[in-house]
Amino acid sequence: MRLLVVEDEADLRESLARVLVDAHFAVDEAADGEDGLFRALEIEYDGIVLDRLLPRRSGDAVLAALRAAGRTTPVLLLTALDAVEDRVAGLDRGADDYLTKPFAVDELVARLRALIRRAAGTPTPAVVVGDVEVDLTRRRVHRGGGEVELTSREFDLLEVLVMHRGRVMSRAALADHLYAEDRDLLSNAIDVHVASLRRKLGADLVQTRRGLGYLVDA
Ligand code: CA
Repeated sequence: MRLLVVEDEADLRESLARVLVDAHFAVDEAADGEDGLFRALEIEYDGIVLDRLLPRRSGDAVLAALRAAGRTTPVLLLTALDAVEDRVAGLDRGADDYLTKPFAVDELVARLRALIRRAAGTPTPAVVVGDVEVDLTRRRVHRGGGEVELTSREFDLLEVLVMHRGRVMSRAALADHLYAEDRDLLSNAIDVHVASLRRKLGADLVQTRRGLGYLVDA
């Protein structure tokens, strides 16, 4: 899944990006509110980590513009302001969660995962599709009681399909959720991963809609 981190302090932004990449997210970065809003409107991110005090456009203004444009991307607001009224104001403007600086990165990752799952209508970390059970937190997959080993890339793809289950996902949409903007992508990478998912988890789990893309049924 793909995240946008909007934070003007370069050290913090880069260390956040590293932690999130280690947690298997694809991560784009923006250093000010104007660039952050541009990217957030351009790309369908799975989640946005948004600092509140930003140059060119505040986090609050970015959030307001995003929601005014009808975008429901989950947003976790980072705030140095700890007053109750500031938290309430942030949530009122359409933030899905917030963290007060300084925060533990493990908590950031856990909260992001939870709010992305909630937004996808998957409040629990375990998703069952037919005889396949996907544990989104521990990144494990079981089929018919036995654990199935997936590569990291195979799991990433399965996760995106499961989080959007019932929706046909084109190759381009899948790539948007899987790869940060600086990544080169082999044009057949997604097809190759779909083939291995079918080999390991059964032919029916990931269905093809000819000319449209792939889906996991709801
Ligand atoms: Ca800042």
